[in-house]
Amino acid sequence: MTNEKKQTKGNKLKCKKEGIQKLFKEIKVQKCKKIVHNRVECDNCHVAPIIGIRYKCLICRNFDFCEKCENTVEHAHAFLKIRDSKQN
Ligand SMILES: [Zn+2]
Ligand SMILES: [Zn+2]
Repeated sequence: MTNEKKQTKGNKLKCKKEGIQKLFKEIKVQKCKKIVHNRVECDNCHVAPIIGIRYKCLICRNFDFCEKCENTVEHAHAFLKIRDSKQN
């Protein structure tokens, strides 16, 4: 009886600790990665708004890629890496 009770308590504590760690991890990710580029649409997959790093073509007018497309889709021109959502 006594042993069983101790075990339950231990498990509960472990769960709580993991929950807090998960929360911290999520906050960290949100802070450094999830920048929302309002009114900017990806010209390949048409995701809008672009979340994360935005890639703006230096040659084409009004041509933007999201992080995923920049990695996977070929484009002839260089991109400007934009992390600040206030840029146009
Ligand atoms: Zn895209
Ligand atoms: Zn281009």
